[in-house]
Amino acid sequence: MVVYQYLKGRRSPATWFEEAKLNEAMQWLGRGYAPARRTWYDFRDRVGKAVDQLHKQVIENAIEQNVLDPEVGVQDGTSVAACASRHQMVNRETLQRRRQLLSDVIKGTNPPPEPLPGWVPPTDSGREDLADRMQTAAKILEERIAKNAAKQNGKRKDPSRIQVSLTDPIAPLGRDKMKVFRPLYTVQYVVEPVSRLILSYGCDAAVTDTGTLIPMVDKTQQIVGGRLKTMMADAAYCSILDLRDCADRGVELLAPVQANSFTEKKKQSQANQQIPRDEFSFDAEKNRYRCPSGHELSYCGRERKQRHGERTLWESRYRCDPVHCVSCPLAAQCLRPGSSSRMVKRLEGQELLDAQREKMSEPEVQSRYALRGQTVELGFADAKAHRGLSRFHGRGIRRARAETGLLVLAQNLLRIDRLQRDSLNSREPET
Ligand code: SF4
Repeated sequence: MVVYQYLKGRRSPATWFEEAKLNEAMQWLGRGYAPARRTWYDFRDRVGKAVDQLHKQVIENAIEQNVLDPEVGVQDGTSVAACASRHQMVNRETLQRRRQLLSDVIKGTNPPPEPLPGWVPPTDSGREDLADRMQTAAKILEERIAKNAAKQNGKRKDPSRIQVSLTDPIAPLGRDKMKVFRPLYTVQYVVEPVSRLILSYGCDAAVTDTGTLIPMVDKTQQIVGGRLKTMMADAAYCSILDLRDCADRGVELLAPVQANSFTEKKKQSQANQQIPRDEFSFDAEKNRYRCPSGHELSYCGRERKQRHGERTLWESRYRCDPVHCVSCPLAAQCLRPGSSSRMVKRLEGQELLDAQREKMSEPEVQSRYALRGQTVELGFADAKAHRGLSRFHGRGIRRARAETGLLVLAQNLLRIDRLQRDSLNSREPET
C-alpha cells in the first residue's frame, strides 16, 4: 500500500490514512485493511531497515532473472530540501538567547516578555519538545563552529555566520538547485545503465557529493555480491583519494578530472594569467619540475592539506631560482605581479589525476562514458517530477533515509514491471 502511494507521489502518512478509507486501489491492496492514522506514522518511522533488506532482495532477484548485470554502476547525487523551515536558522548568539528565554518560560523564573515571541510554542509539551531540539541544535552548532575553526585561513567563515536549523538540527545548510539557502540532505543513486535499475542508494547529512563515492561503492558491492567492476560518475567524484580508494577495491572509476572550478574561474578572470602548471614537466626521480624556459624548479618544502573526512594529503612546493626568473623573457606571463620567482605546487598522488585525465580523453573510454548522462539523471527526474521528491516529509536523517528507501523500492518495482512487459511484447508470437 505504501509503495503504491509512493508511486503516486503521496508521501504523507496522513494522506495514506485517508486513501486507505477512500481509494479503491488501496482497499484492494490492503484487502480492506484501514489502519489508524498513528499506525501509518509508526510504520513510516520503523520501516527503514526492512526497506534496505527488501531493496537487496529486489536486486538479487533481478540479477537471478538476468534482468540486470551489475558490473557497471553510474553514480550521481541530488540535494533534497529537509522537512525544516528555512526561516528558523539561528547562529550561536540567537540560539543562546532563545534557550535562556525558553528555559525561563518553562521554569517560570525570570518574568518572560509579554506577549511571548511567536516562536515559543503555546503548550507545555511543545515547549519541552523545542527545548530538546535546541539542546541538540546547540551541540551540532558547536561541532560546526569547531570544524570551521580547524579550516585553513581563507576558507574559514566568521563564526557568527555559522547557523543551525531549529526544526531539523541534523540537516546541514546549503543552497539547493534553485540557489535557495536552506536545510537539506543529499541523496545518492547508483544506477545500472542498461536496465536503469537503482543498485544502491544513500541519503546523507551533506550539502555536496564530496566523499560519497567510496561509501556507495562499498554499499553497492555488498548488495550485488562484489560484482561491480566499473563505476561512472561526474567530476565531483574524481579526487586523488577517490581514485586511490577505487584502485584498492579493484573498481575502475570512469570520471573526468576537474580542475577546481572556483579557482579556475578566478584565475581566468585575472588580467595577468600565469603560465599553467601543466606546461611545467615533472621529473619524479629527481623530484623537481622543469619550466617552459628549461630551468629547474627545486623542492622547497611541503604542507598537509585537509581533505574530506579528516584525511590529509601532502602538498609539495617547487621554486625556480630568482636569478633565472628575473631575466626570463616569459617572466611577464609566468610570474605574479611583484614576485621575483615562480613557485608551483604538487599534491601527493597527482600522477593518478594526470593518468585519469589522459585515460578519459581516449575515444573508447569516452564512448563508454557517454552512457552516464543518459541514465542516472532519469531516476532523479522521475523522483522529483512524478514521486514528489522535492522535499522530505519527515524530520530527521532517519526518516529521510526511510523515505529514500521507499521511493527507490517503488521506482525499482515499476522499472522491473516495465522491463518484464517489454520482454513479453518483444517475443515473437507463437502462431
Ligand atoms: S619566469 Fe622563471 S619559472 Fe617562469 S619560465 Fe621563466 S625562468 Fe622559468
